[in-house]
Amino acid sequence: MTRKYVRAVFPGSFDPITNGHLDVLKRGVALFDDLIIAVGRSAVKNSLFTPDERVDMIKELVKDIPGVLVESFSGLTVEYAASKGASVILRGLRNLTDVQYEFQLALTNRSVAGIETVFIMTAEEYGFTSSTLIREVATLGGDVSKLIPPLVFDRLQHKLGRL
Ligand code: ADP
Repeated sequence: MTRKYVRAVFPGSFDPITNGHLDVLKRGVALFDDLIIAVGRSAVKNSLFTPDERVDMIKELVKDIPGVLVESFSGLTVEYAASKGASVILRGLRNLTDVQYEFQLALTNRSVAGIETVFIMTAEEYGFTSSTLIREVATLGGDVSKLIPPLVFDRLQHKLGRL
C-alpha cells in the first residue's frame, strides 16, 4: 500500500526561535515527509524581531536539516496550511497551561477546517523556555544564552544595541 505524502506546518510567532522550538522541530521532522516552519505575520504589540528577521534566523539554523522549509504567513493558520497542502499542524507542549490553550485551538482548527494537530512534548530542560520571557529578561540585561542558539543570541544583542 502506498502511503500518502504527509506535510506538516509548525506555526508560531518565533519571536525569537528558542532551543525549545528547535527541540520540537527536530523531533517533529522525523514524523513527516516535510515540514514548514510558518512564522505568523500578524501584528503583535510587543514583537521584537520583524517577521523577515525571524525567518532569516530560522533559515540559517535549519539549513542542514533535510525536509524543513521556512516561510512567513498572514491570516488564518488553517487556510495557510490548506494552501500548502499540509494535512497536519505541529505544536509544542511545555506544561498544563499550554495543554489547555492548545486543546481549544486544536479543536477549533479541526472543527473549522478538518485539520489534525500533532503535539510534541518538549525536553524537560526547555519546559520553562518562552520567547516572551526571553525578550523580557534579555531587555533587562539578564543572560539568556542557554535558552537560545548562539546565532539568535548575537542577533538579540545587536537588536538591543549591545554589540
Ligand atoms: P504562538 O504565538 O503561536 O504561541 P510561539 O512561537 O510562542 O507561537 O510557539 C509556537 C509553538 O511552539 C507553540 O505550540 C508553543 O506551545 C510551542 N513552544 C514554545 N516554546 C516551547 C518550548 N520551550 N518547548 C516546546 N514547545 C514550545
